Amino acid sequence: IIDMGQPEHSVVTTCAYCGVGCSFKAEMKGDQVVRMVPFKGGDANQGHSCVKGRFAFGYATHKDRIKEPMIRDTIDEPWRAVSWEEALTFAATRLKGIQAKYGRESIGGITSSRCTNEETYLVQKLIRAAFGNNNTDTCARVCHSPTGYGLKTTLGESAGTQTFDSIRQTDVMLVIGANPTDAHPVFGSMMRRRLREGAKLIVADPRKIDLLKTPHLKGALHLPLRPGTNVALVNSIAHVIIEEGLEDTDFIHERCEDKAYQAWRSFISEPINSPETMESITGVAAEDVRRAARVYAEGKNGAIFYGLGVTEHSQGSTMVMGIANLALATGNIGREGVGVNPLRGQNNVQGSCDMGSFPHELPGYQHVSDDVARGNFEAVWGVKLDNEPGLRIPNMFDSAIAGQFKGMYVQGEDIAQSDPNTHHVEAALKSLECLVVQDIFLNETAKFAHVLLPGSTFLEKNGTFTNAERRINRVRKVMPPLAGKEDWEVTVALSNALGYPMDYQHPSEIMDEIAQLTPSFTGVSYQLLEEQGSIQWPCNEEHPLGTPIMHEVDFPIGKGNFAVTEYVATEERASRRFPLLLTTGRILSQYNVGAQTRRTDNQVWHDEDVLEVHPHDAEERGIKDGDWLGISSRAGHTVLRAVVSERMQAGVVYTTFHHPGSGANVITTDNSDWATNCPEYKVTAVQVEKVSQP
Ligand code: SF4
Repeated sequence: IIDMGQPEHSVVTTCAYCGVGCSFKAEMKGDQVVRMVPFKGGDANQGHSCVKGRFAFGYATHKDRIKEPMIRDTIDEPWRAVSWEEALTFAATRLKGIQAKYGRESIGGITSSRCTNEETYLVQKLIRAAFGNNNTDTCARVCHSPTGYGLKTTLGESAGTQTFDSIRQTDVMLVIGANPTDAHPVFGSMMRRRLREGAKLIVADPRKIDLLKTPHLKGALHLPLRPGTNVALVNSIAHVIIEEGLEDTDFIHERCEDKAYQAWRSFISEPINSPETMESITGVAAEDVRRAARVYAEGKNGAIFYGLGVTEHSQGSTMVMGIANLALATGNIGREGVGVNPLRGQNNVQGSCDMGSFPHELPGYQHVSDDVARGNFEAVWGVKLDNEPGLRIPNMFDSAIAGQFKGMYVQGEDIAQSDPNTHHVEAALKSLECLVVQDIFLNETAKFAHVLLPGSTFLEKNGTFTNAERRINRVRKVMPPLAGKEDWEVTVALSNALGYPMDYQHPSEIMDEIAQLTPSFTGVSYQLLEEQGSIQWPCNEEHPLGTPIMHEVDFPIGKGNFAVTEYVATEERASRRFPLLLTTGRILSQYNVGAQTRRTDNQVWHDEDVLEVHPHDAEERGIKDGDWLGISSRAGHTVLRAVVSERMQAGVVYTTFHHPGSGANVITTDNSDWATNCPEYKVTAVQVEKVSQP
């Protein structure tokens, strides 16, 4: 499958999987991809790649691709293949009818972090301008929405502060709730290289991640905290920094808001935040916390990297602010090798947030209540916009079950599989009178749809993705879209059918409009992208070629803003009935819900999700490798095969969520982050017992 003959030409484009955003040369023979070769000129990956990216082209031509639009009157009927025109008219008529009957707020839509910036921008524009409300949300709701909230509150910008490449200057890496060698493999390799050169490593994670096995590590420290106790741990690290006088007083004095700092200092100094007090909560030995605090604060350049193990908690936003507090307190911000680095799961999580997918923010994180910003959009879009935030995804589900929310447009997102508490999600989707799904495959969500619009893969369209380091990379079309339309063209056609005219000939024109309306993008254009290869935003008059390192001189909010981060225990507790805590993550060869990777050659590596169980818990239950296990939680029940492993601590079990059959989200609860409603995927109290084969 890899070698399909000699290529005739090649096109440089960007991987559509993780937030590293590797550049590839798609080598072509006619309209066929012969192979994907990592591009040496790629600014994010510099010629490297992982197995996912190399095999990605496999799903583009998979037999399961949806090749024509389909409609049906009810979800019990079979699909009818129809023309684009008939499908779009059917969708528009139904959606308009719903609004006429149930009111302006009765419909909304969801953008995708797998789609391009231009596509995402158009979907939220359609919702705000054609539907006339702010009921737009993104799949980032369920992953990095706390990053947006937490970093904007403390640092003034909802984005990571560094370039990947600046890790070459890092002396201490503090990795929290992330597994980069599996989830962000190319950057994971860069981390390993720096560790082999002598950088120190601190890992805060319930599980022994592979980074801890890097050969020739000097001074690695693992803080195996109990799931759900992140904030307690970060507070205790900060407590030591203040108690032992390890803070950077010059940086705090010059760059941080004094009143906020004094309030935080007084809070963090309280005995309740000491490692000795917190030990009984986190399960991490106080002396190890003290060592970690010293190593991080005393290193010349300390960088923090974090993933969904930070955000997907009831205190996800609090934890992001706790991480920013650490960087501010130690002056580890605003230069190479330091900073706060959220490792984004999907290729365009950063971009989908930047492009105004959230119900409270227009593109560029401009609040919908900001009269000046809203006025700029109204002038260009030619409509009056709502100044009240709209519904978030979980609110849409609740409102649907309450009979108020009736129609939804979902682009490139499988909410029935990826969102928590599947039974609740399915009940909401079943209650809709019109669900329009735009996707490349008949996904789980499509089972509840009335209109199915064929999507296009990253190989079939032009546009841009923005990676975890704010780097805008070009996506270039290498083959024609299978069903005749690129995703942005579908949104344009749907908007026109709804009666709100859109007219673009190429995604570059959409980017020009984005640049016109988004202060951090005013200098971005396809021409500059061609000249530079890639651009890290902000790119504007002040930074005409982009900004590799943020906050070098000041913060967008002027001074760094310490936040008081009180630890509040999650409501999800282990009990006699559910004595173990389940946490979730990814493996190297699969990507998210697996809709793409399961349809490539990667499938042969890991064809099922498994449950990792510590030997102590396995012995108590008579469990051996390969046994079938029933896993029950307060939300539901599923069955997985056992892998007995010491990577987990006793009392904690672990699984992935790449296969629809195993349904990890059937058992996750609908607890969520207090500020953003990001689901608490990482803590579910469960019972595990041997069962006969399902
Ligand atoms: Fe690069 Fe991530 Fe794609 Fe792998 S999955 S090639 S690390 S962008």
